Amino acid sequence: MKLRIGIIGAGPSGLAQLRAFDSLETKGQEIPEIVCFEKQSDWGGLWNYTWRTGVGKYGEPIHGSMYKYLWSNGPKECLEFSDYSFDEHFGEPISSYPPRPVLFDYIQGRVKKSGLRKHIRFNTAARWVSFNEETQKFSVVVDDLVNDRTYTEIFDYLVVASGHYSTPNMPYYKGLEDFPGIVMHAHDFRGADPYEGKNILLVGSSYSAEDIGVQCHKHGANSVTLTYRTTPIGVNWPEGIKEVPLLKNFEGDVAHFSDGSKERFDAVIMCTGYQHKFPFLPDEMRLKTHNCLFPDHVYKGIVFNDLPRLIYLGMQDQYYTFNMFDAQAWVARDIMLGNLPLPEKEERTKDIEKWMDKSLALKTHDDEIDFQTDYIRDLIRMTDYPEFDLDTVAAHFKKWLKDKDEDILGYRDQTFRSVMTGTMADNHHTNWIDEMDDSFERYFSDPETIEEEESPKKEALVK
Ligand code: FAD
Ligand code: NAP
Repeated sequence: MKLRIGIIGAGPSGLAQLRAFDSLETKGQEIPEIVCFEKQSDWGGLWNYTWRTGVGKYGEPIHGSMYKYLWSNGPKECLEFSDYSFDEHFGEPISSYPPRPVLFDYIQGRVKKSGLRKHIRFNTAARWVSFNEETQKFSVVVDDLVNDRTYTEIFDYLVVASGHYSTPNMPYYKGLEDFPGIVMHAHDFRGADPYEGKNILLVGSSYSAEDIGVQCHKHGANSVTLTYRTTPIGVNWPEGIKEVPLLKNFEGDVAHFSDGSKERFDAVIMCTGYQHKFPFLPDEMRLKTHNCLFPDHVYKGIVFNDLPRLIYLGMQDQYYTFNMFDAQAWVARDIMLGNLPLPEKEERTKDIEKWMDKSLALKTHDDEIDFQTDYIRDLIRMTDYPEFDLDTVAAHFKKWLKDKDEDILGYRDQTFRSVMTGTMADNHHTNWIDEMDDSFERYFSDPETIEEEESPKKEALVK
C-alpha cells in the first residue's frame, strides 16, 4: 500500500514539505499519498493577511499575527528558496525589503507552478491526533468547517507545521484591569492607523516591539515608549521613540516603571512573544518548548525523538525562514521515504544535546546567526536541497543587524545581492519612511507615474 503522509498547516513550512515531495515527482519518482489540512481558507500561513481578530468565520481562533504595512524585516536575499529564485518569480530585480503582499506572492509562485493545491484540504482544522503502537499509524481527527463534519484519516507519518507565532504570551501587570485605553497583544495588531496622535506603550524588546514601534511612529503616533524586561533593543532611536526599563504597574492611565519614572498612555500593546501551542496533540506527542534556536526533543530540529514518525517543521526561533523550512522538509522527506536511515535513539539524543549545548553558549546575535547557519548546513549536507552560499547569507544577516543599529528608519532602503542568482536588488522607488502604501500594485508601479510630492526620492530615480 502507498505510504500516507499527513501535514497539519499550509504555511511556508507545510508548503515546503509539499514542494519537497513534488521535487521527487519531477525526477520521475513516485510520491506518497499526501493530505495537508489547513484551517484557513487559503495557504501562506501568517503571510495570508486577515483583518480579523479573535475568531474567524467558523469560530476558530484567528491564526494571523501580521498587519497592514508589514514589510520584510530582514533582507529577502536571506530567505530566498534555492530552487525558486526571486528572478524566476518576478522576472526583474526587486528591492531587498518587500512588503508582505509581494513576499506572499513569491511564496505562492512555487506551489502554484507545481500544482500542489490539490493536496490541501482548506477550512479543515486538525482536532485530535492519536498513535497506534500496534499498527504504527496515526489517526487524525479533523473538522471540515464549511460542512460542519468531523472525520478521521489514517497516516504512516505526521508532519506538524502549524507555526508558533499565533498564540499570545499575555502577561499581567497590576492595575491593567483599570487601564482606560486599549490593551492588546501584538497578535491582534492590524495596523498603525488607530494610533495616530496617541501615546503608546509597547511591552517587550524584540522584533514585534521594534517593528510595531517604528510603524506607529511612521504613521503618526505622538510618542512610542518601549519597556524592556532583560535587554533594551538599543538602536539609535529617532526622536519620538524611546526605551525605558520594565513596567511595574498602572494607576489608571499612568504606567510606573522600575526606574521610578512614570508616564500617561493611551494604549498598551504587549509585544511579549508567543506560546508553542498544539491543542490537537496529546501530552506525549506535544513539543514542549519556547522560542529558541534549538528546541529539546527533536532530532535535527525536526524528528520527535520519542516517536520518530512524528515530524515538526519550523519550530525554532527564526533568523532564516523559507530556505530553512525547505532544508528541514527535504530531510524530513528522505527520512519518511526511508532514504535517510535514522540512528538509534541514544545517538539521536546525543546529537540533540550537542546542538542544545552549543545553542545555550551563544552570546551575541552574530553567534546566533552563525549557529543557525551551521544548523542549515548540517541539514543540507544530508539531502539534495540545492546548496547555496550560506556564508554570504550569514554576512548579509550581520550587515542587516548593523544597518538597523545605525538607522532603524532607513535600514529597509539597503540592497543586497542574491546568492542564488547573483542579481543585485533594485532600489524601491520610494524610501521606506515615505512609503505609506504597502500594496502589490503600488510596489510595482512605475516611478515615472508616481506623483512628485509623494516621493522625495523620485527625482533621483528617474534621472
Ligand atoms: P505559519 O506561517 O504560522 O503557518 C502555520 C499554518 O498552520 C497556518 O496556515 C495555520 O492556519 C495552520 N494551522 C495551525 N493550526 C492548525 C490546525 N489545528 N489545523 C489545520 N491548520 C492549522 N519571517 C520572515 O522571513 N520575514 C518577515 O518579515 C517575517 N515577519 C513576521 C511578522 C510577524 C508578525 C510574525 C508573527 C512572524 C513573521 N515572520 C517573518 C516569521 C514567520 O514565522 C515565518 O515567515 C513563517 O510564516 C512561518 O511559517 P510556518 O508555516 O512555520 O508557520
Ligand atoms: P519574541 O522574539 O519571542 O520576543 C518576545 C519579547 O517579549 C522579548 O523581548 C521578551 O523579553 C518579552 N517578554 C516576554 N514576556 C515578557 C513579560 N512578562 N514582560 C516583559 N517582556 C516580556 O517575539 P516577537 O517579538 O513577537 O517576534 C516573533 C516573530 O515575529 C519573529 O520571528 C519576528 O521576526 C517576527 N516579526 C516580524 C516583523 C516584521 O517586521 N516583518 C514584525 C514583528 C514580528 P525577554 O528578552 O526578557 O525574554
